[in-house]
Amino acid sequence: MGAPLTAIAIGPSPLLDLAGRTPLIRLSRIERDCPGVELYGKAEFHNPGGSVKDRPARRMLLEGLASGQLRPGKVILDATSGNTGIAYAMFGAALGYPVSLCVPANVTPERKRMLMAYGVDLVLTDPLEGSDGAIREARRRYQADPERYFYPDQYNNDFNWRAHYETTAPEILEQTGGRLTHFVAGLGTSGTFMGVGRRLREWKPDVVLASVQPDGPLHGLEGLKHMSTAIVPGIYDPGLADVDIQVETEEAFAMTRRLAREEGLLVGISSGANVVAATRLARPPAVVVTVLCDTGSRYLSERFWEAS
Ligand code: PMP
Repeated sequence: MGAPLTAIAIGPSPLLDLAGRTPLIRLSRIERDCPGVELYGKAEFHNPGGSVKDRPARRMLLEGLASGQLRPGKVILDATSGNTGIAYAMFGAALGYPVSLCVPANVTPERKRMLMAYGVDLVLTDPLEGSDGAIREARRRYQADPERYFYPDQYNNDFNWRAHYETTAPEILEQTGGRLTHFVAGLGTSGTFMGVGRRLREWKPDVVLASVQPDGPLHGLEGLKHMSTAIVPGIYDPGLADVDIQVETEEAFAMTRRLAREEGLLVGISSGANVVAATRLARPPAVVVTVLCDTGSRYLSERFWEAS
């Protein structure tokens, strides 16, 4: 039954070493929509905190520890739509640091309860202001008392995209045997797209890099940003993408249901949006990799599951 199981204890917390090395799963049923195309999902829900954001949260915290900016007595503070917050909460608890998070009040109840379960100080911000309201509140708190906080500021921290440049992209290259032709990822902070995209572009200049966004400012693609109407992250460079694909919330809902029902993959709405974009983009022959960003267990209270 594989390698013997051993206890892990390396680095400042063993939990940090569980992030990454996620499986790449072939979406063999959805793939039938586009004959001649191989379609794969990077199963980021496999991370210990259940999302793609474990990688950058880990990297930003390790960098804070190494530079001395994160040291005993500090509180970890940031704005998040949920998944980075869950990663900070989990790693913060494991490292012994308190965590304070600014989160839009309309994130799913599951996320709020999970953050509470980890003992986070939760600052709920105006739902009408979305993730921008949470960003403004985190900045205000940090500026009012900079000594108190370690503020990674994931939207402007290069170690966010670097985490993907250093780990996610090499894993994808290895798992596809270097055969991939397209990479597709939704934009939140843009860390996943920028980090993986930059590494892939260096490896193969003609790889097609597609970013994914909601089709308007009011949308249900939790975790993704409509860049033209939002505070644009400092780490985002729109020039990297060969193509930017807009996905409607309803299409993403429908694909998220299909992933559960046809592939057995219970994932979140942004994963559905990524797969919609991947199927729309690819022309055969192509080997397309996209990201299954987080676990669907975070969205079970959503009504869209009830449709058949
Ligand atoms: N999907 C979900 C569910 C997310 O929480 C996020 C992060 N906001 C993303 C996608 C986008 O990831 P990134 O921040 O790396 O652009």
